[in-house]
Amino acid sequence: MRITFHGAARQVTGSAHLVEIGRHRILLDCGLFDSNRLDPESPNRRFTFDPRSIDAVVVSHAHNDHIGRLPCLIRAGYDGPMYATRATADITTVMLRDSARIQREDVRNAHLKQPGTDQIAPLFELADVEWVVEKLVRFRYREAHEILPGITLTFHDAGHILGSAITQLDFEENGRKRRFVFTGDLGRRSMGLLPDPTVVKDIDVLVSESTYGNRELDPSDKLMKQLHAIVARATRLQSKIVIPAFSLGRTQRMVYCLQELFALHKVRPIPVYVDSPLAMRLTDIHRDHPEAYTEAARRLMDQDPMYFGSKYVEFCATWDDSRRLNFLPGPMVVIASSGMCDAGRIRHHLRHVVDDPDNAVVIVSYQAEGTLGRKIAEGVERIQILDQWHDLNAAVYVLDGFSGHADRNDLAWWYEQTGGGIEHAFLVHGEPEGLEALAPVLQQHAVNPVRIADQLETYEV
Ligand SMILES: [Zn+2]
Repeated sequence: MRITFHGAARQVTGSAHLVEIGRHRILLDCGLFDSNRLDPESPNRRFTFDPRSIDAVVVSHAHNDHIGRLPCLIRAGYDGPMYATRATADITTVMLRDSARIQREDVRNAHLKQPGTDQIAPLFELADVEWVVEKLVRFRYREAHEILPGITLTFHDAGHILGSAITQLDFEENGRKRRFVFTGDLGRRSMGLLPDPTVVKDIDVLVSESTYGNRELDPSDKLMKQLHAIVARATRLQSKIVIPAFSLGRTQRMVYCLQELFALHKVRPIPVYVDSPLAMRLTDIHRDHPEAYTEAARRLMDQDPMYFGSKYVEFCATWDDSRRLNFLPGPMVVIASSGMCDAGRIRHHLRHVVDDPDNAVVIVSYQAEGTLGRKIAEGVERIQILDQWHDLNAAVYVLDGFSGHADRNDLAWWYEQTGGGIEHAFLVHGEPEGLEALAPVLQQHAVNPVRIADQLETYEV
């Protein structure tokens, strides 16, 4: 078999790996690179392989850096099936429709700013997304399906977000049974809501993520203790807590953790507002999949009238609902997107809370260089929000252990559980420090030297 890495090689975005088994070509993921979508030179605007030559697409999970270019694939002539877990298929539909809408707005705004210039087209239109929806084939976890002659696909729960999967391909080559495994993004262990990543054994060829390959994150009980203290402080001071969070995954995790805090840890409940229409739609999908959660989570959620929506949680559907929050007194928690504070409704909430030292901003996810979220996490004195400068007086707490990504210890545990003897191992989806730190950890379980995948490099294994 051969593997060529067309994205997420020595970086964390643009996941796309082309696997060739005999004459069959299978594309694993087709994600967006982190780049300005309107930039005509963006790597998102061209494929480094011929989409028409692909026989099947397998999707690991519904984050945009793994699914964001599926509609472009259709546009470029791909006409085959796209395999995903049932939850991933549902979430992909919502995420891509939202992405098409945002791009249309971006294009319109760009044109309003510079009328008369050549208008750059969006990466894809809503109609392309509807074709993706047509092409999605839904599989359950742990079921083996022959997707191409002699090639069997099995998904395992990766515990990263709802629907996330480890991809396993079984086939025969030169009279030998072989097993290829792509981790996708792996989740953390013992985080309460989603199960631990499933262990897969007897792996011949492994492609592993390495996002937090060089980091050790706080365990769940410590994080919950910190969150407890922050909520108690807001109750005492009658103040507001603002949490920037991605609409998919982190928002639901934070709602669940607050629910757990109120129910199990006997913390006095305060109102929680989720201010994101996208998060609202995605949370509806989360409610449709009770089977996806740990038993403890199911028991806890059963105590309330609905999953991810205890009586203390309210979703803001309209702009008016959102604006109303600015005039309500604390204590309260507001969860809004975007997760890095560079777009979306979160900026309006930050604008209203950062000046007051009684308020708090809680950072629960990775903040890229140059984003407003990064500046807040670093505790700068003044920040610019929506063209206005503000003093950052609010208390800032960085609790990035709420991440959906396995840390170094989780990854080491998972490799250990595979039983070792991995013939060929590759690392993808990481920054240089994460990749370098993780390679020796994985090496203990691999036969040949672990390779850090290079963009567009083809490996025969
Ligand atoms: Zn992910």
